[in-house]
Amino acid sequence: TPGVRPLIAGNWKMHGLSADGLALARAVAAGGAGLGAELLVCPPATLVAAVASAMADGPVAVGGQDCHAAAKGAHTGDIAAPMLADAGARFVILGHSERRADHAESDAVVRAKAEAAIAAGLTPIVCVGEPEADRLAGRAEDVVAAQLAGSLPEGFGAAGGVLAYEPVWAIGTGRTPTEADIAAMHAMIRARLVAAFPAQGAALRVLYGGSVKPSNAVAILAIPHVDGALVGGASLVAEDFLAIARAA
Ligand code: PEP
Repeated sequence: TPGVRPLIAGNWKMHGLSADGLALARAVAAGGAGLGAELLVCPPATLVAAVASAMADGPVAVGGQDCHAAAKGAHTGDIAAPMLADAGARFVILGHSERRADHAESDAVVRAKAEAAIAAGLTPIVCVGEPEADRLAGRAEDVVAAQLAGSLPEGFGAAGGVLAYEPVWAIGTGRTPTEADIAAMHAMIRARLVAAFPAQGAALRVLYGGSVKPSNAVAILAIPHVDGALVGGASLVAEDFLAIARAA
């Protein structure tokens, strides 16, 4: 999108102990200066503080992979948005399909988490995307439109929220939609963002995620309304993640 700085976000998922996580973060930071795209890494929660302090004042931001909808309370094992912010995070991924599947997160839960993130000063990255059966049945855009309607809180636009379109069947599979299908979905998402957030919707970043790698990044990142990428597997290899970033 003209005038919008792309965001290349790495979702490390449940990967990384101190030594290899910090080495990966340092390698990304070392190669990430002076790029056109903004860079973000989202390590597991145990490493957010260490990675954030290792990257302080560098070119790479740090984010969490989930937060609770409450700012604090009796929720054993959960992590509140103010805790992520306190640890040095600036972003948080919410509603990833693995959270929706493994933890039964509904659109309403994702929206409540996004509200909590915004209240804590974090930028939410809200994930949407259709399962393969819906794509095959020709319902992909309807499913994603419903997720958008249910998952985005009122303050999403003013907070500069980020949307990530991640077809479930493309995550970790090496398969991607056609460029035409990505273009159609992102155009639909853009139209919905503009309708929901008239003041900011045209400039909110819409990321594509699902098997992005160095070999397909140039083509995917050139599609209209693709304002960056959410990268899983390839974000665990600094050279691959940086190659994707350079493609933006
Ligand atoms: C993801 O889970 O956010 C993702 C896009 O994974 P991968 O790049 O491995 O498909």
